[in-house]
Amino acid sequence: MKKTLKLSVLWLARALGLFGLSRRLTRSKLRILCYHGGNIGDERQFNPLLFCSAEHLDARVRWLKDKGFTVVPLDAAVDGLATPQARPALPVVLTFDDGWYSTYQALLPVLARHGVPSTLYLCTQYFERGNPIPPVVLNYILWKSGKSEIDLAGFGPGIDGHHVLADRPATRRLVEALVEQLDAIADPAANRALVERFAAAVGVSAAELDLGSRRFDYMTPDELARIPGLGCAIELHGHVHLYPVGVPQRLKDDLAACAAVIRGQGLPEPRHYCYPSGDYDHNAHAALQEIGVKSATTCLPGLIDTATGRDVSYLPRFLDGERIHALEFEAEMSGFSDFLKRLAGRG
Ligand SMILES: [Zn+2]
Repeated sequence: MKKTLKLSVLWLARALGLFGLSRRLTRSKLRILCYHGGNIGDERQFNPLLFCSAEHLDARVRWLKDKGFTVVPLDAAVDGLATPQARPALPVVLTFDDGWYSTYQALLPVLARHGVPSTLYLCTQYFERGNPIPPVVLNYILWKSGKSEIDLAGFGPGIDGHHVLADRPATRRLVEALVEQLDAIADPAANRALVERFAAAVGVSAAELDLGSRRFDYMTPDELARIPGLGCAIELHGHVHLYPVGVPQRLKDDLAACAAVIRGQGLPEPRHYCYPSGDYDHNAHAALQEIGVKSATTCLPGLIDTATGRDVSYLPRFLDGERIHALEFEAEMSGFSDFLKRLAGRG
C-alpha cells in the first residue's frame, strides 16, 4: 500500500513535468549507479537486488540515453569531483560489485552494445577460490526449497538437527556453519558435491540448482582479463567481503591483498574502492588516503555536486535492481527523490 501510494505520487510528479525540471536543475550533478550479477535462471526472483536481467539493465541504459545522460568512466568522474562546471550534461557512472560470472555473461555485453563504460569492484578472495559463492548459493537453496522447517543429518556439529527457518538468527548460524565447511574445501568437485548434498537434503535437485550454469560463480581469470575490452575497469571491493569496522590497519592490509590480486592478473593498479555490503566507519577516509585510494562508494543514494576532502571516501551510490520500479529509478536519477529528501530534511 505504501509503495502504491509512493508510485502514485511519483507518477503524478512525472506527469506534471517535475522529473524533467529536476534534471534541468541538477544537470551538472554526478550520479553513481550500482548493480551486481546478471540473471541466468530464477535467481533474480530469489534476490532481485543482487541479480538482474539483461533486459532490465538494457531498459535503464536506454532511458538514461533517451533523457540525455552521459555515462562517464569512474576515474574521470572522480577527477572532476571538485569541478561540477567541467562535467558533461547529466553525468552518470555505472558500477558492478563482486565479480559475478553473470555480470560478464549477461550484463557487460549490454553496456558494450550501448558503447558505455563501467567499473567492476572485485572481491578477490572469492575470485581466487573459484567455487560457487557459499552464502549466496546456500541461501538460494533454502529459498528454493520453499520449506519452513528442515532436518539435516551427516553434515556435522552446528548443522545436523531440526531447523525452523523462520528463526532468522538460528538460520544465519546454520548458513555460517555450512559456509565454514565450504570455505575449507578448495577442490571444485568436492565443493560442488557438498553444495549439491545440502540441496538434496532440503529437497532441491541438482538439476534445479544447476551449478553447471555457473550462476553462483564469479568470473574466471580469463573472463576477468576480457572485461576491460568490454569497457569495464577493475577496482577494489576488498580481498574478503567484509569491512573491518574500527580496525583501519586491517582495512589497509585487506586492500593491499585485493590490489595485489588485481595487479597479479596483469590489470592496471586499482585506485577506487567500494565498501562491501555498504559498511563503513569514520576511520575509512584517513586509511584510504594513506594507501592512495582516490575514492570510495557507499550504498546510500544521492546526487554529488562537489566532493572534496573526506567526502570523496563516502560517495553516494544508488543500488538499482529488479525490485526498483521504473518510476523510482527515474525519480532517483532525475534528482526528484533527492529534492524530496531535502524537503523532508528541512521539515
Ligand atoms: Zn559485494
